[in-house]
Amino acid sequence: MSVLDQNKPYQKYFEELTKIPHGSGNEKAISDFLVNFAKELNLEVVQDEANNVIVYKEASKGYEDHPSVMLQAHIDMVNEKNGDSDHDFDKDPLDIYIEDGYLKARGTTLGGDDGAGVAYIMAVLADESLEHPRLNALFTTGEEATMIGAFTVDPKLLDARRLINIDGEEEDVSNTASAGGIDVLFHRAVNWTKNDTDCYELKVSGLSGGHSGGEIHKEKGNANKIAARILHNLAKDGTITLCEISGGLKVNAIPREAKAVFAATAGEAKVKETAQRVIDEIKKELEYTDSGLCVEIKAVDKAAEAMDQKTSDAIVDLMYLMPTGLRHKSDHLDGLTVASENIGVVTTGKAGFDLAISIRGALDSYVQDMTDELKTLGSLLGFTCKDDNWYPCWDYMDVSPLRDTMNEVYREVHGKDLILEAIHGGLECGIFKEKMHDLDIVTMGPNLYDVHTPDEKLNMESFDRTYTFLCKFLSRL
Ligand SMILES: [Zn+2]
Repeated sequence: MSVLDQNKPYQKYFEELTKIPHGSGNEKAISDFLVNFAKELNLEVVQDEANNVIVYKEASKGYEDHPSVMLQAHIDMVNEKNGDSDHDFDKDPLDIYIEDGYLKARGTTLGGDDGAGVAYIMAVLADESLEHPRLNALFTTGEEATMIGAFTVDPKLLDARRLINIDGEEEDVSNTASAGGIDVLFHRAVNWTKNDTDCYELKVSGLSGGHSGGEIHKEKGNANKIAARILHNLAKDGTITLCEISGGLKVNAIPREAKAVFAATAGEAKVKETAQRVIDEIKKELEYTDSGLCVEIKAVDKAAEAMDQKTSDAIVDLMYLMPTGLRHKSDHLDGLTVASENIGVVTTGKAGFDLAISIRGALDSYVQDMTDELKTLGSLLGFTCKDDNWYPCWDYMDVSPLRDTMNEVYREVHGKDLILEAIHGGLECGIFKEKMHDLDIVTMGPNLYDVHTPDEKLNMESFDRTYTFLCKFLSRL
């Protein structure tokens, strides 16, 4: 039984996409699916070594002399699920359902980001009745991780110099610029020592999380940072040594959960009293942004091994001192976040301790300065630091005929202006712009909420309207 309307091609295709696992790094199956889709339509198709897919469709009658248009969406999604979900992202189809006009997936992210864009482009490719110039349909991989797809795309395969990026999350908004960024990876080897001290487990959960670019200005709680703050305070009552610390799943998602197991000398009553005092303080601070915050602390069996004191102290100090969240916003551009950090993922294993932080900035200098600051802190505390996942900014262009046409069509359809917005997220657009300097770019997409979290939902009316808008927009190019 289908959940979505099979008479609407983009809905039918979206449902098909949810049946193929497609988390970042696992796009081969969905990439092959798109290649077959194009072949069945007798369209020319290229698949490259990064599993990007480019499909070419000739202009409709009367549009033969119009310059080409590129439609682009990414085929990977963020795999996030609730702690109690037994969903296997490697093999299970998403369990989608509609509730109150919204499409959701039980216990997991929906992949509306960017399945909605992929489904739209498939529908445009399949529909012989639409009016449009020659199309380059570009489906990219790895956007949510390293943007490997966008970095790999060979611009020689693309004849279009007008790009409609369909990775937007708000129907009435089109982006005009995006942030650049980098991840910094901290590592420190751990010496394990025999443990004889009482142990406790600290668990942080119930945070709302969200995308570290799009949601960081909301000043939500960061589970890793909260765990570090509690541990830092516990260390004032006596020594604590970590046996384990972990939190967050993706560097570009604000971590919703964290866990630490540690040995503490202060005694159970004191440990619980201090922890509770700090927890109450944090809860009050996050009363309006993260009312669901839940922090539990309990005595557990003594762990056989704990970290040596010096390493344990260094880890707690690093996480406690490391900046996270909003750093700078613009007075000039409507409060746009122009610099931020997100302590995304913390893990402990036999090989040692690892932490990944994501840095974003509207200017290269912000990114450079925050990176330097973090590396200085890391080296003072004995960690090695490594750069990862750098991506460029997309700078605002004063002149954009594509943007003007989009706004014109938007006004005709909606009777109001499109909202033009520079954003703090990193977009593949920045990479395309670096490869093709003469590229004119707009972004669009249907209304999506809580992306990158298991609460992700797609508004169905907006899903329909936005497709109609796209078709009309194409007919005017
Ligand atoms: Zn996306």
